[in-house]
Amino acid sequence: MKEELLRNPTFAMAARQFDDVADHLKLADDIRERCKWPKRVISVTVPVRMDNGSTRVFSGHRVQHHLTRGPVKGGLRYHPEVDVGEVAALAMWMNWKCALMDLPFGGGKGGVDCDPRDMSPGEIERLTRRFTMEMIPFIGPEIDVMAPDMGTNEQVMAWMADTYSTHAGHLEPAIVTGKPIGLQGSAGRTRATGHGVAFLASGALSKLGIATHGATAVIQGFGNVGSHAALTLSSYGAKITGISDLGGAVWNDGGMDVRKLVRHAAKHGTVAGFPGADPADPVELLTRPCDILAPCALDRAITRANAPDLRCRVLAEGANGPTTPEADAILEDRGDIFVIPDILCNAGGVTVSYFEWVQNLQRFQWTEREIITKLETLLQNTFARVAAFAKRRKLPMRTAAQALAIRSVAEAKATRGLFP
Ligand code: NAD
Repeated sequence: MKEELLRNPTFAMAARQFDDVADHLKLADDIRERCKWPKRVISVTVPVRMDNGSTRVFSGHRVQHHLTRGPVKGGLRYHPEVDVGEVAALAMWMNWKCALMDLPFGGGKGGVDCDPRDMSPGEIERLTRRFTMEMIPFIGPEIDVMAPDMGTNEQVMAWMADTYSTHAGHLEPAIVTGKPIGLQGSAGRTRATGHGVAFLASGALSKLGIATHGATAVIQGFGNVGSHAALTLSSYGAKITGISDLGGAVWNDGGMDVRKLVRHAAKHGTVAGFPGADPADPVELLTRPCDILAPCALDRAITRANAPDLRCRVLAEGANGPTTPEADAILEDRGDIFVIPDILCNAGGVTVSYFEWVQNLQRFQWTEREIITKLETLLQNTFARVAAFAKRRKLPMRTAAQALAIRSVAEAKATRGLFP
């Protein structure tokens, strides 16, 4: 299994990052190996009756990186190129994110190799219910709690919860998070990640002595994360000068009306053509001067090609893995950009997923205000912890965040013993 995982370039990258941090922490070999490899890699076949009467057999995977600190938590994606090595890498990163935020979870990730865009709602429902049935021996509110990811959504989570609950004989909402509000989903979950990105970016600016009110921000991606980051930053008085998405990019020196832009993007499917701004080049947007640059779209957006030309003060990583290791080295050499690494910057989503799970277990609901206050407190404390550790050990913020996370997993394994 180890060799197969390492053949995937994303897993090899996650493993290399882990090795570097483990070297820094001088982790003993036995603990290092236990932290690095997933506890369980579960692969299943999922036969589904298609609308035309034929049967297709899909492959599904779930990787549970470890269960030392609690149940596994992480998304389930439906995508034609799902690869078990990539799923394992995402599970490992999720692991460090949960540990960094001190959530009582290990990391997990799952995927089914299907293209939901080519499937009817009925086919997606049958696929989801059958995948859930195949997973029943390995999941549970205290074992593995899934959430939406690429190609899945709150309806998919509702079908999963229903299938699991039917099997259990009673409603068990804590089996998944990211559910519809009507099925005990959590207030605040939709905006949690983007709000967290904006909240931390504002905190980083204030650390640099720059007021958020009147500061400028450029955001790549205007989906769930990017749009909510823009809305919160604009509510703080920041000027959103540039935004891009798959359809194009827009720019306004004086800042854009983000609410109008949300309505425009909902209507036209892209920010392009927004009347309150000029068209711009999405690639060149990343290197325009701004106080906050927030890549909130895809991985590897900041590379060795554009890192030397960035003109932001804070790089707030809303996406997972937006900065390549080569770009990281360039930014470290430059030393003039404050990086808020992804496992901290976009942790708002999993944190509110944790709140959803807690509410479900308690059969209790918190208000959105309570949720956002609790989220901000956790993010602020973790940011302060990472920044202090980075300063003390003279480390980049990314290494500091990963080191704190890996150290806490290693400590839990060492104190529990050999089983977990
Ligand atoms: P989404 O699908 O809602 O939005 C993605 C946006 O990126 C879209 O606006 C799309 O047009 C844009 N985009 C895609 N390719 C682009 C390109 N080449 N240039 C510019 N824009 C491009 O996705 P999301 O939920 O907002 O997630 C975005 C990123 O944040 C992903 O990396 C995801 O893994 C990460 N993330 C999301 C959450 C969450 O709660 N949604 C939590 C943690 C991390």
